[in-house]
Amino acid sequence: MTLLVLLTAAAAAEERTGQVVFLCTTDVHGKNPSVYQAAGAWKSRLESEGAAVLLLENGDYLWGDPWVNRDHGASAVEAMNQAGYDVAGLGNHEFEWGTEELQNVMMNAEFSVICANLRKPDTDEPLFAAHTIRELAGHRIGVFGLTTPDVAEIPGEERTGTLCVEADEALVLRAQTEVDTLRASGCDFVVCLGHLGTSGSSKPNRSRDILRQVSGIDLFLDGHSHALHARMLEGTMQVQAGEYGETIGMAVLDTDGQLTAFLLRGTDAYALPEEGECAAVLPAS
Ligand SMILES: [Zn+2]
Repeated sequence: MTLLVLLTAAAAAEERTGQVVFLCTTDVHGKNPSVYQAAGAWKSRLESEGAAVLLLENGDYLWGDPWVNRDHGASAVEAMNQAGYDVAGLGNHEFEWGTEELQNVMMNAEFSVICANLRKPDTDEPLFAAHTIRELAGHRIGVFGLTTPDVAEIPGEERTGTLCVEADEALVLRAQTEVDTLRASGCDFVVCLGHLGTSGSSKPNRSRDILRQVSGIDLFLDGHSHALHARMLEGTMQVQAGEYGETIGMAVLDTDGQLTAFLLRGTDAYALPEEGECAAVLPAS
């Protein structure tokens, strides 16, 4: 029996060895804290099957339901720490409590907080880090963050203070600069963690606008418009996990370079789709 268990475990470990799996949540707004637990459980399971996993949150997690509002999002940060999140971007609603309080709450984060297009006016440095680089399964993976210029209206400049919010051509230029910087430092796979979305009202600062004008992004993890996407957009894989923890986005980079994306739906305990139901596949180049 022990031998059988060991053999089964070995087979499972082999199954995903060499794969890199990106798991992402977005726009949870404190409405479904169990999604963090589920995402953490998925991370553990995939790692036990041999995969290298990056767990990311796209934005709008510190404000919404009373569960997060009561402590300005500290509960969400704690839940994400417990789940083993690696990276989080910034949504516009992260600024509901003001920039200073955002920095206070994030002091407890055990994950990287990234956003490239929110800059301090005096030094032009990003408010947090612009990007993070991770070595996983033989890859050097660069992840950079972008947030929507809508932050200047929602929650508004009285909350973002004197921060410079790069938009339009400046946003495109910032994204290309980030890709070029990450490539120059040896990254072979570049992820944009962009809280930009697909709404027409966000034009010309949508994920589509960035992907049309910026070259070198391998995977775009999207948020802000609360939409469900695991598809090819302007020739790049785009994943957006909806709203309120309804799904967990999953993109799998296989050993042959093929990239496949799914949405793990909350209605079925965030189960994997049946064989043949995968939402999008980008063939190996
Ligand atoms: Zn948003």
